[in-house]
Amino acid sequence: MANFNVRYGVSLRKRFLAVGADKRKRYKCDLCGKVAVKRVMNGIWHCRHCDSTFAGGAYTFHTTAGETVSRLLNR
Ligand SMILES: [Zn+2]
Repeated sequence: MANFNVRYGVSLRKRFLAVGADKRKRYKCDLCGKVAVKRVMNGIWHCRHCDSTFAGGAYTFHTTAGETVSRLLNR
């Protein structure tokens, strides 16, 4: 169990570093197709083109982190 916790901590840190660079990027809007979606706060994304607000990942718009959390909760 201790080994698992250590490995999990390392992978979490790597993931955090990997997604950290993405949080300032703009993402393609699902509705209007323009690359105008920016993060306004954790998990909240806003398209400047069509004025839509989305609930997404905390650091990336289309995130795999949310899926990871769901999988962890389902254990
Ligand atoms: Zn849009």
